[in-house]
Amino acid sequence: MPYLRISSDRSGEGLGVERQRVDCLALIEGRGWTLARAPFCENDASAAGRKPRPLFRALLDLVRSGGVDVIVAWSLDRLVRNARDRLALVEACRDAGVMIALCRGSDMDPTTPAGRLAIDVLGSVAQHEIDQKADRQRSAAQQAAENGRWIGGRRAFGYTADGLSIVEDEAAALRDAYAAVLAGETLRGVARQWNRAGFTTAQRPYRHAHLGERSPWRGDAVRRVLLNPRNAGLRAHKGEIMGQACWDGVVDESTWRATRTLLSDSARTTGGPTAMGKHFLSGVALCGLDGCGALVHGGGASHGKPVYRCRTTQLLPDQRPDVPGTHVNRLAAPADQYVSDVVVARLSRPDARDLLVDHKRADVPALREEATVLRARLDALAAEFGGGAEEPLPPREYRAMRAPLVEKIESIEGRIADAGMVDKLGALVRADDVAAAWDELTRDRRRAVLDVLAEVRLHAVGRGSRTFRPETVEIIWKAR
Ligand SMILES: [Zn+2]
Repeated sequence: MPYLRISSDRSGEGLGVERQRVDCLALIEGRGWTLARAPFCENDASAAGRKPRPLFRALLDLVRSGGVDVIVAWSLDRLVRNARDRLALVEACRDAGVMIALCRGSDMDPTTPAGRLAIDVLGSVAQHEIDQKADRQRSAAQQAAENGRWIGGRRAFGYTADGLSIVEDEAAALRDAYAAVLAGETLRGVARQWNRAGFTTAQRPYRHAHLGERSPWRGDAVRRVLLNPRNAGLRAHKGEIMGQACWDGVVDESTWRATRTLLSDSARTTGGPTAMGKHFLSGVALCGLDGCGALVHGGGASHGKPVYRCRTTQLLPDQRPDVPGTHVNRLAAPADQYVSDVVVARLSRPDARDLLVDHKRADVPALREEATVLRARLDALAAEFGGGAEEPLPPREYRAMRAPLVEKIESIEGRIADAGMVDKLGALVRADDVAAAWDELTRDRRRAVLDVLAEVRLHAVGRGSRTFRPETVEIIWKAR
């Protein structure tokens, strides 16, 4: 009962399907066997591809169901496409007592000791190939991950050209940048700071840095650097974290993850309209008009003094057209001052430290351990199914087993990131002089602090109102 398979391109003209068929039929006749069923013939143009082969499946079923005594094939590598198929077939044949007879190669008869040995050896070799392939895939991915993008002359900022050792002054700048960004600094702010400190983008190997083009930092370049998992001592492949790298991280994993979470927040850009606003509350405070709630912006001036205004001009459903100016439009400076004062007062209170206590704070080392175990299980699963990366369409069970693992890992990574959201408030609350510490913060960091603490609604002040009325600035504290 021959199963004929040929891969059309590489097998050569001399070994067409017809030739295999003739040889197999001759073997059957020579042994005095009867053809049990028509030849399986899979003229498979994509032998190297990954299309499911229904005929191979049917052959396996036939073997397992005991519907056949012997499989005849031209050669084993024509019969099976890869180590996995080979293993499946020889095991099925061994279990069902089905012999494999080959035109090129010796018989494998599971009813004789020699045949069983041949099958066992073949099976072991196949298994070995499968394991090696998985290993190769892993190490190729690892190598790619370890080499990262600085191969070909680009060095990772913070690391030597081989990517393995830390360049201390750059690493210190990186650590500061992570802390600053988590505390609300903008990427452009970091870029400015790095440029002032004389750092340039690391386009060339470190020791040749003076030869290469060295560009000043910009926000998007800072973002790319901060997002690089290598800074947390993690190696990644195609955006997926593969595990611990063989180099040291510059920051811990939770700091990196927290930063990544923060930077992938779509609302945050390298310098969008929000970051461009001139005033503290621009793009932060909301219009206090009932039912509006749009962000206010620093726009224009009144008698030469900057104002915040709601850009919403349309009337609300219940607003009468003869009552104008109820969207906010008021002087900026008094509102800024008032909100700053209130925040400083809040953070100066003895119970301010309670704001820093995060009761949900996770046990990061334990989480990391858990993630490592899960990732190892994913690896093992992928190896079991022949290296997930090479199988665009893994079997359904593989996906079914993989999905909950991936989901769990993502949830753990999220919790690690949360734990790394180093308190935006910490530096302020711990300061001896909260007001002075507040004054030293950049506008963006002040905004970040405010964002943690409260929501601000600016109400219209009405015409001719000269004195500042605090009740027109509504501060709604957020629950912590
Ligand atoms: Zn409004």
